Amino acid sequence: MNDRIDHVVLIGGGLAAAKAAEGLRADGYTGAVILVTDETHRPYERPPLSKGVLVGDESEDTVHVHPADWYAEHEVEVITGDAVTTIDRTAGRVVTAGGRSLAFDRLLLATGAVPRSLPGAGDLDGVVTLRTLDDSRRLGELLRAAGHVTVVGAGWIGCEVAAAARRLGTEVAMVDPLATPLHRVLGPRIGTLFGDLHRRHGVDLRPGVGVTGLHGTDRVEGVGLGDGTVIDTELVVVGIGVVPRVELAEAAGLAVRDGVVLDATLVTDDPRIFAAGDVANAWHPRYQRHLRVEHWSNALHQGRLAAANMLGAGQAHDALPYFFSDQYDLGMEYRGLAEASDEIVVRGDPERGEFVAFWLHEGRPRAAMNVNLWDVGDDLRRLLEAERRVPPELLRDPEVPLADLAADEG
Ligand code: NAP
Repeated sequence: MNDRIDHVVLIGGGLAAAKAAEGLRADGYTGAVILVTDETHRPYERPPLSKGVLVGDESEDTVHVHPADWYAEHEVEVITGDAVTTIDRTAGRVVTAGGRSLAFDRLLLATGAVPRSLPGAGDLDGVVTLRTLDDSRRLGELLRAAGHVTVVGAGWIGCEVAAAARRLGTEVAMVDPLATPLHRVLGPRIGTLFGDLHRRHGVDLRPGVGVTGLHGTDRVEGVGLGDGTVIDTELVVVGIGVVPRVELAEAAGLAVRDGVVLDATLVTDDPRIFAAGDVANAWHPRYQRHLRVEHWSNALHQGRLAAANMLGAGQAHDALPYFFSDQYDLGMEYRGLAEASDEIVVRGDPERGEFVAFWLHEGRPRAAMNVNLWDVGDDLRRLLEAERRVPPELLRDPEVPLADLAADEG
């Protein structure tokens, strides 16, 4: 491998690629940095796209990772509206659809993911997904115009879009094959709380039922369900998960398995090529397995770390997974990684809407979610990182400060 690094190419226009560019400059790298994105916007963050930007509370200007002039000031070339089509590892170049050929000494794959399509959905107008800034802009307009929207999938996109739609006064039905919203991540008990939340805000929640087909000629008019009912609707938002964009890596002969396979330092089996963000399936030292995390904070940290490691830092990514969500009057943060079999312990009163839920494995908290409580994040992180057994009664007792449980002697 050529140890001299004169050219770094970053593929992707999301948070991971932008943070890598920032990291390279922050770490003193003075060679060329070229970021290539197939979108027409400079890099932006996605969380507001299903929250503030969607309902119009937050201006689109706030989503960008850096101000427009940051890139020129830091000599980062941003190529928008062009896509890398080939990675030529032998020549050490990438080729783009627009005919560019760019040399690289280090390459970052931050290609993200694409929304899964609804099987058998066909090609009707009024059936959309939400991933990009343009999607969010368009969906906001559609929600304002529609009297009724059906959200397919009660995951993060589904729940946040349902909440946004209700804010905009649109009638909402939400369908998911599992028994509660967010079932896979939060399990039945906490998922039920989210189901109740959406029902309280007027969502016609249809859990435990699949979509059999969409009705309509040119435009969607109805959603057929496995229980034989049809929901009359004007708009369908499909939020049934995403598929990592691995085509470039695969064609380049890199290891791909539910994302681009990486070691803990985010490097592929080619020491020049790294990956970060939704596409990255990296070895996680804490969990002793590969882990692909589709959340904002992962892109933030991995992008930054990949930059450092491109320059030789050799640091492992071992951060606890973290994400947040806002739905109606509920704001939450989740840290860690739970399994379906974990014991759940709750501190506080879910009925009052302020509580912390812990997921325990063999008596050790390994995930925690704080709901409408905002000064507990650091204590929860320390508690999870300690990986100690904590008696459930102490976790449950609001009189026992979390800081004490998180402290070494806790
Ligand atoms: P998601 O969170 O994985 O949820 C997808 C949901 O759709 C799951 O409940 C899934 O059930 C269900 N589903 C799958 N196939 C279905 C079908 N045929 N019909 C109906 N439901 C179906 O994915 P997402 O909500 O689409 O979000 C996309 C990405 O954006 C994710 O990576 C997510 O993490 C990210 N995102 C994050 C946030 C946040 O962190 N606050 C907000 C928005 C988006 P199964 O589990 O059974 O497959």
